Amino acid sequence: MLQDSFGRRFYYLRLSVTDICNYRCNYCLPEGIGCGRSLEGEKPLTVDEVATVVRAFASLGTEKVRLTGGEPSLRKDLVPLLEAVRASDRIRRLAITTNGYRLPSQIDDWHRAGLDQINISIDSLDPARFHHITGHDRLDKALSGLERALALGVDAKVNAVLLREYNFSELDNFLAWIRETPVTLRFIELMRTGDNREFFASNHVAGTDIETMLVREGWQQVIRTRDAGPAREYFHPDYAGRIGLITPYSKDFCASCNRLRVSAQGKLHLCLFADQGFDMREMIAAGDSDALAAHIRELIGGKSAGHELHEGFTGATRNLAMLGG
Ligand code: SAM
Repeated sequence: MLQDSFGRRFYYLRLSVTDICNYRCNYCLPEGIGCGRSLEGEKPLTVDEVATVVRAFASLGTEKVRLTGGEPSLRKDLVPLLEAVRASDRIRRLAITTNGYRLPSQIDDWHRAGLDQINISIDSLDPARFHHITGHDRLDKALSGLERALALGVDAKVNAVLLREYNFSELDNFLAWIRETPVTLRFIELMRTGDNREFFASNHVAGTDIETMLVREGWQQVIRTRDAGPAREYFHPDYAGRIGLITPYSKDFCASCNRLRVSAQGKLHLCLFADQGFDMREMIAAGDSDALAAHIRELIGGKSAGHELHEGFTGATRNLAMLGG
């Protein structure tokens, strides 16, 4: 089992399949990315390379893989990518994070390819505000895709980044929505990155304040599984849905870290906010998953105790699209 020098074990791999995104979320890529760039030009990991990475991690005890990005659905070969992960029988959970814009037309194919879980980014339930935050008038696509995912039995979660100036006033609407909608709605605390310093200063909201309010209103914490994501989840008997809180600035957030990341170009990132990624592309391309696993085992010793976001250090991370949130 993959274990670092602080005794943390890594059951969960977040694998970016592209660093290109078609949205222009104001907290992430306000200028957009992708215009004039092609997926081919960036040479993301191929299907065979993804299969090698997954075999290596599976042999080290990884049980859950999430495909992320950029926007993973921009990959024309997303279904073969999903199948390549699914081919490893040690991977018990296959998940994806998406902005949802292709969901209505593609979720059936993803489900057939073996997808178990989907996280859809919906930062506002108000169409105009959604447009304002993301640069796209496509809330309807995300919501109808979500509905279809639920109908297919895919475990669906919704991600909403808490933004003081843009969606914080919507908290009651979000709560009213999950009273009837059986999804886990995860409020993510805005993280400071290299590119969003000013935006962060005016928009960061502490998720722990919301948590205190929830506990006061009778929400109870769900027990975590060992491959669970970073959210602390809460349920309430009057609500069909749950609430998750992702609070990277809270004390001890990193103590329960169980995940590692690989970039679309095959770099191992020991933390979302690490100073650098370790380039494994050559080794991945060689296709020897045993050698790759041995290399990853060596690198894991360099994982530090925690990120230094509190001190304002954001490592090499200019935005989360580079690596996947
Ligand atoms: N394109 C996909 C999507 O929209 O979900 C996957 C990539 S996106 C980078 C993954 C998640 O990171 C999204 O839920 C997004 O809202 C979140 N995110 C991006 N930048 C963030 C930031 N600075 N702080 C907190 N969450 C952020």
